[in-house]
Amino acid sequence: MAGLSTYNIAFKGLALGTHEFDFQIDKKFFDLFDGGIAEDGNVQAKVILEKQSALMVLWFHVSGTVKIQCDRCLDLYDQPVAAENRVFIKYGEDSFEDGDDVIWVDVNDHQVNIAQMLYDFIILAIPIRQIHPKDENGKRGCNPEMLKKLKELKYNAESHEEQPDSRWDDLKKLLGNE
Ligand SMILES: [Zn+2]
Repeated sequence: MAGLSTYNIAFKGLALGTHEFDFQIDKKFFDLFDGGIAEDGNVQAKVILEKQSALMVLWFHVSGTVKIQCDRCLDLYDQPVAAENRVFIKYGEDSFEDGDDVIWVDVNDHQVNIAQMLYDFIILAIPIRQIHPKDENGKRGCNPEMLKKLKELKYNAESHEEQPDSRWDDLKKLLGNE
């Protein structure tokens, strides 16, 4: 996956202080990760590397939209996402702590790949309730045709469930006639 190297940050040789890296995230990025919740999107990622003498800090700012499926009408829609995250990069031969916000690099490493981190931060920014947002009139952008079809399917499923009840009605009628 050659595309992953686009998301390398070469820190060796950088002066102490802050350095900014910008990434434009689109379908090519999501294609690097198989079968996730989002397969397309348009997200701007700004990553600030703060290089200190003993460690480094990465500040992630992501904002944009990801294309995901609406739970209500099953159409794809653009879900706005925005997140800020911080990750420490520490030097060491072993990982001393297992924390989500610390990654360990060897003293001889000269770069770090941030693709997986960017992906995780974008995916974590997707709300649990995935549904078309409302427009300025308070109406959701759901596909009306699809909602109609789903309603019909639901209605049919419910009327099948009621089958035993109608037999009870027949029985009651019989009993009532006696
Ligand atoms: Zn919808």
